[in-house]
Amino acid sequence: MALIVHKYGGTSMGSTERIKNVARRVAKWHDAGHQIVVVPSAMSGETNRLLGLAKEISGQPDPREIDMLASTGEQASVALLAIALQSIGKDAVSYTGWQVPIVTDSAYTKARIQSIDDAKVKKDLNAGRIVIITGFQGMDDAGNITTLGRGGSDTSAVAVAAALKADECLIYTDVDGVYTTDPRVVSDARRLKTVTFEEMLEMASLGSKVLQIRSVEFAGNYRMPTRVLSSLTDPMIPLEEEAQSGTLISFEEDTHMEQATITGIAFSRDEAKITIRGVPDKPGIAFQILGPVAEANVEVDMIIQNISVDGKTDFTFTVPRGDYDKSMKIIDDGVKPSLGASDVVGDNKVSKVSVVGVGMRSHVGIASQMFRTLSEEGINIQMISTSEIKISVLIDEKYMELAVRALHKAFGLEKD
Ligand code: ADP
Ligand code: ASP
Ligand code: MG
Repeated sequence: MALIVHKYGGTSMGSTERIKNVARRVAKWHDAGHQIVVVPSAMSGETNRLLGLAKEISGQPDPREIDMLASTGEQASVALLAIALQSIGKDAVSYTGWQVPIVTDSAYTKARIQSIDDAKVKKDLNAGRIVIITGFQGMDDAGNITTLGRGGSDTSAVAVAAALKADECLIYTDVDGVYTTDPRVVSDARRLKTVTFEEMLEMASLGSKVLQIRSVEFAGNYRMPTRVLSSLTDPMIPLEEEAQSGTLISFEEDTHMEQATITGIAFSRDEAKITIRGVPDKPGIAFQILGPVAEANVEVDMIIQNISVDGKTDFTFTVPRGDYDKSMKIIDDGVKPSLGASDVVGDNKVSKVSVVGVGMRSHVGIASQMFRTLSEEGINIQMISTSEIKISVLIDEKYMELAVRALHKAFGLEKD
């Protein structure tokens, strides 16, 4: 007997028919003698629908109320799944994040999990029940409902698995694993049997939304065996076959089976770039520019400072596109006058494309191959950033898909 956490995403929970299939699949695992905890997302489109309603009423809805609203999508899902399981004779119970409770900090819309109480869940499991817990949400110390950021049910699932010391966390989704790049952009992308934890972390942080980055961090911190697999197969396929399908996140570098130098191409469409020109080049300048942006809870990504001319320099950084207006306002209204900068310009139509692979450590020439490929396509690189296992470039958003396809081909990642 093992304790296994299943996570089902929005598409997997997308209709009552799909929810019945999820119930059959979960029942199959339970019938095989395992203890099962299920963490579902809201039905596909529901979170967007709810957020859209708030936007119809107010341009700047209060984040606390946003979380109150957005968390309801998952509450409906857990109840429907419990009803589906009960209707096929299974003993199942559903809980919201605050019933467990899953305690988070108070950063509405991007809260971080601080602790999970396993007592109630363990008691139910030991009584033979299937336990269903809402993804995406928790509660802060004061009892306010919080949510974990878009795609946050992945994180709920891995965090619940870690708290329960589960044997495995299975992330069921609408693709049958992690691919060399998003298979919706490159049709001959190849599925990876395994991906190292570090590569998955880079891919998630660089925009591959197949897993939310914090879920990968949890998997790494707790060494939780985590597998990405399809929820759209026949729910009654043999359990042994299903258990080996998809992509396993591996923690052993030596078991990296696909020996390619580059493992995958990640991209993030929704980036924005801000340049502040003519700032005095003196100690503390980066802090004075980026401090107020960080204080507004905006994550700055790429940063470039030019060499100075006559004691003045230009400073450029990128932020998620959703934070562009807020960041521009901070720089324009506060930082520019206080530093006496000459000018602020922005571009919110840029995207980031990255090549990722642990094999880069032992290979030279990856960057030049990447830059050559982009130049052959006539794509201008605006910013570059690198780490040991990734190279990212910022480009005009209209060339993003072209860049991804060209790089996927240039690095030989397509199916055999
Ligand atoms: P869920 O609702 O199950 O959480 P998501 O839409 O959040 O599903 O994530 C799955 C999607 O991630 C896929 O449909 C695919 O388009 C996208 N994706 C992006 N990069 C990759 C990748 N490298 N491998 C597989 N899927 C990817
Ligand atoms: N329902 C939430 C979202 O759409 C969480 C998730 O699907 O993981 O972002
Ligand atoms: Mg997701």
